[in-house]
Amino acid sequence: METIVLKFGGTSLASAQQICKAADIIHSNPARRYVAVSAPGKRDRGDIKVTDLLYQCHTLASEQESFDAVLTQIAARFSDIITALGVDFDLDAEIAAIRTHLETKCEKAYMASRGEYLNAKIIAAYLGFPFVDPADCVVFDDTGALDPEITNTKVHEALWQLPNAVIPGFYGALPDGTICTFSRGGSDVTGAIVARAVSANLYENWTDVSGMLAADPGIVPSPRRIDYISYQELRELSYMGSSVFHEDAVFPVQRAGIPINIRNTNRPSDPGTMIVASLPRILPPRAVTGIAGRKGFVSIQVEKALMNSAVGFGATLLKIFADHGVSFEHCPTGIDTMSVIVANEQLNGCREQILQEIREQLHPDALIAEDHLALVAVVGHGMAYSKGVAASIFSAVSEAGINIRMIDQGSSELNIIIAVEEKDCENAIRSIYQKLITD
Ligand code: ASP
Repeated sequence: METIVLKFGGTSLASAQQICKAADIIHSNPARRYVAVSAPGKRDRGDIKVTDLLYQCHTLASEQESFDAVLTQIAARFSDIITALGVDFDLDAEIAAIRTHLETKCEKAYMASRGEYLNAKIIAAYLGFPFVDPADCVVFDDTGALDPEITNTKVHEALWQLPNAVIPGFYGALPDGTICTFSRGGSDVTGAIVARAVSANLYENWTDVSGMLAADPGIVPSPRRIDYISYQELRELSYMGSSVFHEDAVFPVQRAGIPINIRNTNRPSDPGTMIVASLPRILPPRAVTGIAGRKGFVSIQVEKALMNSAVGFGATLLKIFADHGVSFEHCPTGIDTMSVIVANEQLNGCREQILQEIREQLHPDALIAEDHLALVAVVGHGMAYSKGVAASIFSAVSEAGINIRMIDQGSSELNIIIAVEEKDCENAIRSIYQKLITD
């Protein structure tokens, strides 16, 4: 039988009404067997996500402040859901356990995980599905990184004999049993892990939009929906700020070749976006799939005459960054210049030290740190086969009166990345979209 794994995001499960929509979707196809869930998200614009309330509770408790009001707010969110769904669930016992934890161990990840944990237990009771706790099968190593192979084996063992199950997203446990979470939005990763572990035919990711858009709708009015996108394109766009799908969630399903379908819980008949290994040949070729931008980068430019013939110059420069645990994003070079582009937050606390070491070890003619840069990525497999894409990008940006500070084309010709000043980021995205994507 076909097996579909579903993941529902926070807005899709923010209230009993939303949970009923999710249940209708699950029941409409018997292949929809395993369900990963987020904590209840925002019911409307002014609302607060349960995960944020849990973090607030933890901060208050760790500062010895009263957390009663926030914990009561969290309990009320779940109590409303339980009453409206009419499920038999001992919420008081669960809230008492959370209170005891806050008063004794007060671990941040444990607290953050309780939104997914409680939501999954309630939804499992409502659907009549077994509840599977990822604390027993999603394994992080001692450094807090996911152990993908042990996790795959354990999740498979936990699920293969169950006809269906509900699994909380977002967390797992360290080898000693301490709860550990993924980064925010990490329930997408849990869904992908489950899809791989049960060799699903499809991973459906149910959210509040009808798929991915070719650009941020806050920047480009009514951007085109992406029907099909490859795993690699998706990763490039997610990494650069397109927020529909967690950037790390691609790996487990990509490895197993399982397609992902991004769908809208509020419009279940919309086809959404299919994320696949390679784009179907029947589709009309298009050069650019999407555009995304990210702010907060610094360019460290090093100039030195005859750099091109100085053996080991680049290695020494990059080693200085590596020694400080700083990973770099891009490294464009000229004959006598080399720049290292890094995310701002990477340099927290070590910026001056790095600059000092560059001066001492490389004796540059000039050393300039340029702040407030944004990177804009234009992504699409079709670029490798289309002439003039780069020319169109550069003319769009120059016609908008924007200065390009750096250009980088990935070796797979999957993307062209330009750096512009942060203040020009939105305008650059809009101009490139209008030139290259508007049909
Ligand atoms: N609840 C977590 C968050 O708000 C994880 C998730 O929803 O995927 O980030």
